[in-house]
Amino acid sequence: MPYTTKIPNTETHNAVRDTDARHHLHPFTDTQALNRKGARVITRAEGVHVWDSDGNQLIDGMAGLWCVNLGYGRQELINAAHEQMQVLPYYNTFFQSTHSPVTSLAQAIADITPGDLNRIFFANSGSEAIDTIIRMVRHYWTLKGKPYRKLLIARENAYHGSTLGGASLGGMPHMHGQCAPLLPGIHCIRQPYWYGEADGLSEDEFGLIRARELEEKLLEVGPDNVAAFVGEPIQGAGGVIVPPRTYWPEIQRICRKYDVLLVADEVICGFGRTGQWFGSQTFDFQPDIMSMAKGLSSGYMPISAVAVGDRIADTLIESGDDFSHGFTYSGHPVAAAVALENIRILQDERIIESVASDIGPYFQARLRDTLSEHPLCGHIEGTGLIAGLALVKDRKTRTFFDEDVGTLCRDECTNNGLIARACGNRMVLSPPLVISRTEVDEMVDRLRVALDRTYARVGGISAA
Ligand code: PMP
Repeated sequence: MPYTTKIPNTETHNAVRDTDARHHLHPFTDTQALNRKGARVITRAEGVHVWDSDGNQLIDGMAGLWCVNLGYGRQELINAAHEQMQVLPYYNTFFQSTHSPVTSLAQAIADITPGDLNRIFFANSGSEAIDTIIRMVRHYWTLKGKPYRKLLIARENAYHGSTLGGASLGGMPHMHGQCAPLLPGIHCIRQPYWYGEADGLSEDEFGLIRARELEEKLLEVGPDNVAAFVGEPIQGAGGVIVPPRTYWPEIQRICRKYDVLLVADEVICGFGRTGQWFGSQTFDFQPDIMSMAKGLSSGYMPISAVAVGDRIADTLIESGDDFSHGFTYSGHPVAAAVALENIRILQDERIIESVASDIGPYFQARLRDTLSEHPLCGHIEGTGLIAGLALVKDRKTRTFFDEDVGTLCRDECTNNGLIARACGNRMVLSPPLVISRTEVDEMVDRLRVALDRTYARVGGISAA
């Protein structure tokens, strides 16, 4: 069939699916299994809804891939791209040149980030931002006369992207298996997953114990050999693991004690998801350097950034040498213009304030009121507009299923008009920040029906 970039009509949807099966290799997908049933063709989106080619309207409980913070169809973002395309669709920032979209965006990010994160390096994806940080912190220590400070410490069940650097730093065994040998010099400590791993300890105690594993690891490998500790304020792809409130301040204390740089991977938590601009503000710590992507442009354009604290930035700048790193599209003018407009809307419409004091608490309360007594629900955790729900076989003993109940439940969600995600035995939600109370009600009700149906499929008695 002749290829087209036009939105297909109904007759061409099967052709789209066939072409997909013939030519498209999907990320993070068992392509053989997908091709057996055919990919769902998404045709359009508006607000918090997407439509598929069968005419189904789904609530996008995942804001795409945790990114469409302003929801779909925002004309201002479309206009920003259109206008910038007409003036300057591309120019690089490598060879002594700059342009106003990138400088304005750098200034805006410096203004909204906490502390002294005053200099901004641009890339296109969260993974590239993370790889940038790996290179930048190692280079920083070399410039400081401590080239032996090369090690990075991260956590089990963390997700930091899919490039070799990101996958090595992340704690996802399946990814490690496929890209081995991994990047050397990365060590791992356990995650602060209270519900799944605390074994009777209080949240506060457990948070301190897991944070202190960082100190043990530093002493094991030699603190002087360590460049940085890296963590997501809330682990997103790991299943929305919300750390106890004691965790991050203790991590910060240990990093400061041993002069280890503290890196916050804000790719999911950034731009309002937790009710503040950044997750590190919600969890009360000040990173030395921070990655961001996704919500930076509400996913309308691929763009990511690294916000760099003065200590690191000044050292790089004062070295008088090139930082030999960058991407053709670093600071792309169209992506930057869209991100800038996205930040303006978040500010003007006071959307983050609403996540903190209105729609976020409403969402968290509705989830708990409706689902916490469900026989499949072991525990619900979350803050702002991000939440994770542990699926359990036995609530009393906190026994998890051996079978993949998450995928069952995810499919039941889809069948019932809700896009939710399964991360192992946890269901996660992260809707657009502009979701209304009525839409929250509908989303939670659809999830309840999906849980009922999943429960029936695994042998429980209630079914909707
Ligand atoms: N870090 C975190 C915390 C993420 O959640 C992700 C993506 N889900 C990444 C990095 C990688 O981002 P990208 O997929 O844009 O490369």
